[in-house]
This record gives sequence, structure tokens and C-alpha cells, in this order.
Amino acid sequence: MSPAPVEITVSATGRKITVPTGLFINNEFVASVDSKETIQTVNPATEEVICSIVAASAADIDVAVAAARKAFQTTWGKNVTGFERSRLINKLADLMERDAQELAELETLNNGKPVRVARDFDIGDSIQCLRYYAGWADKITGEASIDNKTKFAFTRHDPIGVCGQIIPWNYPINMWAWKVAPALACSCTIVMKPSELTPLTALKLSELVVEAGFPPGVLNTVPSYGSVGGAALSSHLDVDKVAFTGSTLTGRKIMEAAAKSNLKKVSLELGGKSPHIVFESADLDQAANWAALGILYNTGQDCTAGSRLFVQDTIYDKFIELLAQKAQALTISDGFAEAASGGPVVSKTQYDRVWSYIESGKAEGAKLLIGGQKRPGKGFFVDPTIFTDVKPTMKIVKEEIFGPVLSLAKFHSEEEVIALANDTSYGLGAGLHSKDANQCMRVSSALEAGTVWVNQYNMLNNNVPFGGKKQSGIGRELGSYALEEYTSIKAVHWNFGEKLDWPF
Ligand code: NAD
Repeated sequence: MSPAPVEITVSATGRKITVPTGLFINNEFVASVDSKETIQTVNPATEEVICSIVAASAADIDVAVAAARKAFQTTWGKNVTGFERSRLINKLADLMERDAQELAELETLNNGKPVRVARDFDIGDSIQCLRYYAGWADKITGEASIDNKTKFAFTRHDPIGVCGQIIPWNYPINMWAWKVAPALACSCTIVMKPSELTPLTALKLSELVVEAGFPPGVLNTVPSYGSVGGAALSSHLDVDKVAFTGSTLTGRKIMEAAAKSNLKKVSLELGGKSPHIVFESADLDQAANWAALGILYNTGQDCTAGSRLFVQDTIYDKFIELLAQKAQALTISDGFAEAASGGPVVSKTQYDRVWSYIESGKAEGAKLLIGGQKRPGKGFFVDPTIFTDVKPTMKIVKEEIFGPVLSLAKFHSEEEVIALANDTSYGLGAGLHSKDANQCMRVSSALEAGTVWVNQYNMLNNNVPFGGKKQSGIGRELGSYALEEYTSIKAVHWNFGEKLDWPF
């Protein structure tokens, strides 16, 4: 029997949202084939349970992969035109636009982020992402090579096949769109595993997949615990590619599982400890805005969070005063509050983890500029916390915290700050602020990161690639580069006249 959907009433708005609770396989919400395991979802602002949903077992992953394989071989893969894929992806974008407010409220309930941010940024960007790749769907072509009169060679950019997609909890809808849009454009089929902390919007989006008209099995959604469904997908012999966003630790496990099973293609978007540099010539007011946004956007739960801020000694005192004012001007509250710029962190585990870093910063002798005190009452709230006088060896400077906790240090010369900035095993993002164009060019070229922001921070475009260097990942999302992650190149050599002499 199919698990019944639940009706949730959002107390802040009065909206009633029907949420599917089953596994989404072959365009239907179904029960697990062999398990009674559930996932209990929690509102991080109130600590109240929202609802329970079915957790996929390894056997359910087999069923979902088989559905995706069948669709790949029958209705999708090489059996659908680019034009038709484009039409369906655009239809999905239309439906997301129609339901943006409902999806945003569900996202806020499950993840905690402000409803305005979820709607205007996460969902707004996801709609654009779908439309961007809908534009690519009928333009994925190979190359031709004719270099003599009897031979012709060409390449086909074929869909890679069945893709396992494992996404995190910090941007549940956004990460869904970044993974789903290029895969569908390239004609791959999908088994999507959302995070066990935030599975509700992926289930709701699955309803839109049916309404848009995608054939059964093209996109399957299997909420599951990472060590169960995530591990089963990464080691599955009939999965051709795994795309992952999350921690470096899990990324390693996924790569290992892929290597030990069928050497499936892997793309990893992992953690970071991104440096953000303010030089003395910068527009200080603007630099303070970007620095605060860099660490406080999404309550610091951002893989590119500018968590190590370096400020030139000549402007240091003035700048930190400005930065403290900017951070304190933000309202961190329940995401349904009108003025909220940030919400709680996602879970009790994450809350405890962030606080353990704050305590370690205090214990290692970093100086608190603002924050660092727990709030009374319910909800996993962490106020903006800025440490100054940090040393490169401190845990808060070396490790990814994934919360609103900034480490701030002084530097004297450009050469010194480049060395400090690159002194990390990560290489995801980096930022710098300066009015000296030559300095902007020199420093952006020297920083070891997949993305460098100059006189801004954290701004991305769907048509510009995103990904990491060093231990921040492998492969690229967004832009035309993401298409390479979902295609397999076949060379066809065609002889139209050359005779083979025998014996050769
Ligand atoms: P995680 O990496 O464990 O979880 C991300 C996704 O991976 C989830 O869907 C999870 O179910 C899945 N997963 C977990 N174990 C797996 C396994 N063995 N095989 C396959 N999939 C598996 O992250 P987390 O535990 O939720 O958070 C821990 C830390 O990771 C955070 O504090 C933060 O530092 C980092 N993180 C980074 C990002 C990012 O965008 N780079 C996102 C989330 C978390």
C-alpha cells in the first residue's frame, strides 16, 4: 500500500501543504520493499517534529536504479529529442514558479532559512538554472573531423546513463536544481537522494516532475540515511555516475565506493575554508557588507563561506568596528519573521558542532569581537560570532565550521596574505577587495580556489562554472562545463573509400 501523504499547516502563514511521505519511483509514491525505517523531519526554529517519511533501504535503491535504467533504455536516453527535453524542463521551471511560495514555506519549515531568501534566491535561482539547461538540451552536439578524402570521424556526446545524485541540507532546492537540470538536459536518468535532514522539498518537487509530464523512471527520489541509501548508490554496479555535494569526509567515501565497484564517474563538490581579503584601498563600507554576507549568508552553512577574513593592518581597527556594526544589524530569527536575514542552523547535531568550535576558539585564546553567547529558549540559533587575533594553527582557522563563525586576522603585505590565504587543504572560494586593478589581477591569479570574487562575495551565475581545487572537489557544476559531467564522448571513425591492403 502506498504511504499516505500528510497535511502540514504552516502556523506562521496558515498555509496547508500536502507532503508525500513515500519513495518516489516510476512517478509514484511507494512504500519500502523491505524496511519500516522512517526519517523524522524537524523544524530547526522550534525543534518540533514536522512529519515522518519513508527511509529507503539498499533494496529500494535497487528498485529505483532499475526504474531509472528502464527509462534510460526506453523513453529517455537516446529515445527522446533535445527539443522535447527542453520543453519538459521549461515546464518544470514554470511549475516551480507557480508554486514558489509554497515550496519556500516548506523549505523554511524544514531547513530554517528565511522564507524570503528561500523564495527569491534559492527558488528564483533554481528556476533560472532549469531554464538555462533547458536552453542547452537541444544544443548538445559533438565535433566532426575530416582530414582526408576517404575518412570521416565524428564524436557523439551521449548521455552517461543512470546518475545517482546525493545532495546536502544547506540548499535543498538549489542543490536539487544544480544536479537535476544538467542531467535531464543531457538525457540522463536520475536517482536523487536528498539529505535525511531536509527531504521534504525534494518530495514535493517530485510531484511537479509528474505534472510536467516526464515519463516514469526518469527522475526518482529516495530519501534515505547517508550510510544506507547514499552508500548503496555510490557502490551500485548499475549506476554510471554519482554527483555529490557535502562534506570532504563523505566525498572520500563516495570516491572509494565508486572505485571499488564499477569505477563510475564521480563529481564532488565538497567543503571549504575560504579566505576573504580586504586591502587598504578597498571601499570599506562595501567590503564590510560583503565580508558579513560572506560568513553570515545561510547562517554560515555555505561551502564557500568566507570564514577566514584577512584585513590589512592600516585599516584594521576601523574595519573591524564597521564589520561588527554590519553583523549586529542583521536579524537572526525564525525564518517566517518578516525581518529575518538568517535563521537557525539546520539541526541539533550542527548546533552542537558549531558551539564546540566556538568553545575551542575561546579555549585557544582567540578574542571575541561579537557573539559567542548562547541564546535562551527553543531553536538551533547561533548569533553571528567573530573572533579576532586568531592564529593559523587554531582549530577555528583550520577546520570547516559551517556556521556563522568568522576568524579575523591582520596582515601587512600582499605577499604575506597570499601565503596565509593559500595555507589550507581546501580550495573552493576566495574573495578580495581592492581599488587597485593590478592588485586585483595579481591576487586573483595567485589564490588557489575554484572561484575568486573581486569586490563582491558569494555571487554565482548559472552560466559560470562552479567547483573546487585541492580537497574541495572534483569536476564542475553550472555553465557548459557541467554538461561534460553528464555526457560520455564516443568517437566514430567512418571509412568511405579507403581499401585495406592485405597482408597489412
Ligand atoms: P554529509 O557530507 O555527511 O552529508 C551530505 C549528504 O551525503 C547527505 O545526503 C548524506 O545523507 C550523504 N551521505 C552521508 N554519508 C554518506 C555515505 N557514506 N555515502 C554516501 N552518501 C552519504 O554532511 P553532514 O554530516 O550533513 O554535515 C557535516 C559537515 O559537512 C558540515 O558540518 C559541513 O562542514 C559539511 N557540509 C558541507 C556541505 C557543502 O555544501 N560543501 C554541505 C553539507 C555539509
